[in-house]
Amino acid sequence: VETVRRGLERLVVGRTITAVEVRHPRSIRRHVAGAVDFAGQLTGRRLLFARRRGKYLWLPLGEGDALLAHLGMSGQLLVCPADRPEGPHLRVRMHLDVPGRELRFVDQRTFGGLHVVPLPDPAGVPGPVGHIARDPLDPAFDDAAFVVATRRRSTVIKRALLDQTLISGVGNIYADEALWRARLHWARPTRSLPAARLRDLLDALRAVFADALAAGGTSFDRLYVDVEGSGGFFEPALAVYGRAGLPCLRCGTPIRRVPFMNRSAFFCPRCQPAPRRAALAVSGRSAGG
Ligand SMILES: [Zn+2]
Repeated sequence: VETVRRGLERLVVGRTITAVEVRHPRSIRRHVAGAVDFAGQLTGRRLLFARRRGKYLWLPLGEGDALLAHLGMSGQLLVCPADRPEGPHLRVRMHLDVPGRELRFVDQRTFGGLHVVPLPDPAGVPGPVGHIARDPLDPAFDDAAFVVATRRRSTVIKRALLDQTLISGVGNIYADEALWRARLHWARPTRSLPAARLRDLLDALRAVFADALAAGGTSFDRLYVDVEGSGGFFEPALAVYGRAGLPCLRCGTPIRRVPFMNRSAFFCPRCQPAPRRAALAVSGRSAGG
């Protein structure tokens, strides 16, 4: 999502929306006043910045409002040539005061959506985003507060990494990659993790993010593409995710895969030793479902 935000900043910030066409009402269902009001509120408004938290992107409009996009499972905000044919999943089309360029919201599964929200302070965070923690690339992310809050939770570390009220921006793949780099087993109970190990884990996460951004994408799950429609491609840099049975890049031990929260956890059983039995009882409960 950070790749998308950077693209928006480069290509649409400073531009004015000149017309809005809503193609599917479900994509603006959170804008309760409806499509006509949505278009009316946006037309003639200038996009001041591009901000992000978790899977939310917002563009402050000034005068106390912002255009908020929740990307859901498959939503994409694309900046594209105005003459590009409309695909079957185009939901909202926003014309800009730049000839030949427009902003499109494309969403196959329509879990995401757009709405205009109050934002009295353009530098603030819209209400629907308030519960989402900052991500570790955010300069205002508070490492010490994360360490304290995580050690207070009665959970396992991978679950904590996926909890958006603690930390955002960490998907299943990022979590496995960072845990491998930090040599932490996914089922380590957070309560007994030394603070120093959690700080190491934050460093590992930031290193994984940096590699992903350098590779041009956060689109680990292939659902996100950048604003110009090219998907990020990070797979060559993955150390554990998707590598079950292949040798650990550090020690050669075959990588293991176990079910985790309807997905998977990949880890090296040697570099990331399992917690002792008492701890495993906790992890077994947490990993159920
Ligand atoms: Zn290893």
